[in-house]
Formats: sequence, C-alpha cells, structure tokens
Amino acid sequence: MHEVSIAHSIIQTVLDEKKKNNWAGIRAIGLKIGALSGILPDALAFGFDALKKDTPLESCHLEIEETPVVARCRACAHRFEVEELTFTCPRCASTSLDVEQGQEMLIAYMEVDEIKDTTHDP
Ligand SMILES: [Zn+2]
Repeated sequence: MHEVSIAHSIIQTVLDEKKKNNWAGIRAIGLKIGALSGILPDALAFGFDALKKDTPLESCHLEIEETPVVARCRACAHRFEVEELTFTCPRCASTSLDVEQGQEMLIAYMEVDEIKDTTHDP
C-alpha cells in the first residue's frame, strides 16, 4: 500500500532528525498533503499509527492538513483555488494553467522535546 511506504519514510526521516539533533522526544508531526498528491490522509494516519509502535515515536501524534490546489492562469495571471478539480480560470475561462500548489507532501513542523535529560534515564 502506497500510504504505508510514505508513513515509513516519514518515520525514518523524523527518527534521523531526532538522532541528529539529540531530541529527547517528538510529540507531534505536522504534515501538509496537497489535494493532488494522491495520498489519502486517513490511510496515511492509519499506516503511521501502525508503524510507530515499538519505535521512539510511539506517543507521537500525526497532524495532517490538506492543502488546496492553487493554480495560476497563463493567460491573465489570475491566481485561484481549484475547486472540484475544475482546471479552468474563473476570470477568463482559459484552461492554460500552472499548478502552483497541491501536489506536495511535506513535513510542515515537528513538536519536539529538545534537550535530552540524561538524569531521568533508567
Ligand atoms: Zn485567466
């Protein structure tokens, strides 16, 4: 399943960052998923919750924000949100558009416990 492999790579990326920065823990990961990315947020959240078990991210919460598709018209430069995947400029009806947003999947932020406090380690 597509979303499980994405969830896996998110976990890998975050664990690499955690190690690199010596973070004590990660409380939340904020993801932005474009409406055109082809990623199903529910399936991704499900995959993440399944994969995080027995990792340092077990108590980490995934927050997913779906970002709308934004396009710019090549004819009149009008920038607009594409609704219901109708790729037509609402101002001049041109179908010659550049998609500026909506295909991406990115980690927007992480809520981390920054300093590792070794005095509380067992
Ligand atoms: Zn236009």
